[in-house]
Amino acid sequence: MSVNVTAKTKIAGIYGYPIEHTLSPRMHNAAFKTLGMDIIYLPFEVKRDSLREAMKAIKMLNFIGVNVTHPHKTAALEHLDDLTDEAKRIGAVNTVVNRSGRLVGHNTDGVGFIRSLREDYGFDPKDKRIIVFGAGGAGRAICSALSQEGPERMMIVNRTLDKAEVLAEKVGGAALGWDTPKLKQEISEAQLLVNATSSFLNLDHECISERLFIYDIVYNHRRNAFVQRAQQKGARIADGLSMLLYQGALAFELWTGQKAPLEVMRGALHKSEK
Ligand code: NAP
Repeated sequence: MSVNVTAKTKIAGIYGYPIEHTLSPRMHNAAFKTLGMDIIYLPFEVKRDSLREAMKAIKMLNFIGVNVTHPHKTAALEHLDDLTDEAKRIGAVNTVVNRSGRLVGHNTDGVGFIRSLREDYGFDPKDKRIIVFGAGGAGRAICSALSQEGPERMMIVNRTLDKAEVLAEKVGGAALGWDTPKLKQEISEAQLLVNATSSFLNLDHECISERLFIYDIVYNHRRNAFVQRAQQKGARIADGLSMLLYQGALAFELWTGQKAPLEVMRGALHKSEK
């Protein structure tokens, strides 16, 4: 994409490490271009020990804001001037807005996930039985958002059980160990299974039925054997692109105050898959 960068061009971006696989620049730059905005979105490789300086640079270089991704979503908290209630509740941020030199931390992952569920998949979490794998930044954002939608029950499974227990206590769910025999039963009774770990799921497909909706927030899950098998058994499958779109659209709106061009952003993401 050719961008006519001048001294007036505003800067947004994403901080993370590693960062080379990020799809966010395509999505945001396509949106800025379509709306004729003089803003460029850049990926920045920021290692853990450079985060403090990188956060100062947002103010110093007058960026409009940044996204933060692994491994900075929790560490960024201590470099912000203000936090939304949601980001406080989740204990992580994915979007920083530079409001006239004050850095405000937001978390758009949970809301982005719910919008994706409803708008792209027509799934209403109210009164549903839900099982979420993962209690990291994304798992916390998703469980926090789901808990506000009135599910019948929410089980949280995590490799490190105490993290699942802390999260379950916070969001009114229940924690389950990865190896518990009860897990199969819970999966067979669930209507929504979310993979919010950074690993591929490898569960026993015996307990998967065609009633189950499997939402894997990792993007490239189609290569995953478990997901393929579940699909063959009739389960409905979603990957992480739609959540990426909606969390990005919310970030765009926070930075610019304008409605995000959703279909342009979606098109840019899907083009990047090919
Ligand atoms: P994170 O804070 O580092 O948490 C990682 C989670 O994965 C933890 O629950 C961790 O369990 C679990 N985990 C890691 N390796 C595992 C393994 N080998 N087996 C089982 N569990 C394992 O990361 P995050 O920010 O939550 O992100 C998680 C994933 O979601 C990443 O792949 C990220 O790219 C993706 N993501 C997608 C979107 C989207 O828009 N689609 C948005 C945000 C994140 P322990 O607690 O035991 O370590």
